[in-house]
Amino acid sequence: MRIFDPHIHMTSRTTDDYQAMYASGVRALVEPSFWLGQPRTSPASFYDYFDALLGWEPFRAAQYGIAHHCTLALNPKEANDPRCTPVLEELPRYLVKDGVVAVGEIGYDSMTPAEDVALATQLQLAAEYALPAMVHTPHRDKLTGLRRTIDVVRESNLDPEHVLLDHLNETTVKDAAESGSWLGFSIYPDTKMDEDRMVSVLRNHGTDRVLVNSAADWGKSDPLKTRKVADAMLAAGFSEDDVDKVLWRNPVEFYGLSGRLQLDVPAPQALHEGNSILRGGE
Ligand SMILES: [Zn+2]
Repeated sequence: MRIFDPHIHMTSRTTDDYQAMYASGVRALVEPSFWLGQPRTSPASFYDYFDALLGWEPFRAAQYGIAHHCTLALNPKEANDPRCTPVLEELPRYLVKDGVVAVGEIGYDSMTPAEDVALATQLQLAAEYALPAMVHTPHRDKLTGLRRTIDVVRESNLDPEHVLLDHLNETTVKDAAESGSWLGFSIYPDTKMDEDRMVSVLRNHGTDRVLVNSAADWGKSDPLKTRKVADAMLAAGFSEDDVDKVLWRNPVEFYGLSGRLQLDVPAPQALHEGNSILRGGE
């Protein structure tokens, strides 16, 4: 079984996770830039983080046989902090880099005017740089947030078919599917979507344009949720081809819109900017 996790924050995860993911079938992933839990106080913090998502993290993933790509953006939450918004002006020089396969995560957190500006600006950047957009939908007030997101996408220059609407559930899947965008589902332990509910969504809505991710980060989350959904699909009578479509071909097709996916894992390098995973020392 080959698995592509289209949304996982490996910066927050351990090498044990990389090993366990590889053992479960994960061969490729996309790491969206996001909020780190603690507020950043200057744009420079973003640039070091973006560089890590383009350099150190793919280097680390390659040690474990996994192809790593990223999406870059000013995240919805920090779009509200005027100390961080200059990132929007610097973003273009990052969007031309090879490892970037979308603009993201963008979208709404609390649906403020500052978030409106950041979302519209970054959808425009995606259109200008011929990249798809990875759009986070709010965890609170989900349907209102989703409908407003779809309206902003419709008013943008970006084709809805180049947009992935993420963190969907049973209440938002219908509107999201009608918008023509790709449908992302984040599977969490205990809260929000779980694997059995995901299987029901797949039964009702089919497998077209559906992506499943673990969204694993620094919070309670599970980097093996993609595999657990695959196993739940097989147990529920879906075919191996259905599993391959949802867990591999769909994410490849969506992020392939960037023209930048490199699914052959590069041979592991011993050093990244002079440092090894042995903490600099032989
Ligand atoms: Zn995320």
